[in-house]
Order: sequence, then C-alpha cells, then structure tokens
Amino acid sequence: MKVPKTKKRYCPYCKKHTQHKVTANKKKNPSSLTYGSKVRAKKRGVATGHGNLGRYSKPPISKFKRTGSKTAKKTDFRYKCSDCKKSHMQKKGIRAKRIEFK
Ligand SMILES: [Zn+2]
Repeated sequence: MKVPKTKKRYCPYCKKHTQHKVTANKKKNPSSLTYGSKVRAKKRGVATGHGNLGRYSKPPISKFKRTGSKTAKKTDFRYKCSDCKKSHMQKKGIRAKRIEFK
C-alpha cells in the first residue's frame, strides 16, 4: 500500500482542512513482557511455575509462519497537523501487508 507523506485532512483542533504529516504507528502487544522483566519477575518469586521463559520452546522467528491468523495487519496512521502541530489518529484501519511512504 502506497501512502503519501503529506495529506490534506480535517483537523479537529483547528476545525478546518490543513496539511497533515502522515506517519505509521507501530503496534505493540500490551500483554507481552520483555525477556528481562520475565527473568526479574521469576527472581522475585512473582512468576513461578513451569517453563523456560520462552527460550528454547519456540522455533526461531525466521522459521515462524503464521497459520490461521491474518498476515496483513490493519494500518494505524497518525496525522500531525502542520498548523497546530497536534496529531490525531485515523478512524478505521485498512488491511495492508506493507506500507510504503511516497
Ligand atoms: Zn490543526
């Protein structure tokens, strides 16, 4: 999917159409902890139980292939107004495998 770097859009703060800078926001999984925090949680005794903190139980990511779940993710664009420098999000994402800024 090709996206222009700047776009004329409605700014809800200026209440008119202004030039906006388009950036894609990277989505993070909010439930996933970093490896380091898992180790620290185990040391504190908070997270006890089985498992090796996901070290050797999974194949390498290069061999990892999605099955069942969709491979194309919805876009999450942020529009930054060039007038008031405030940013707002897009209403609805479109499914795209790759985002390319022109
Ligand atoms: Zn604005």
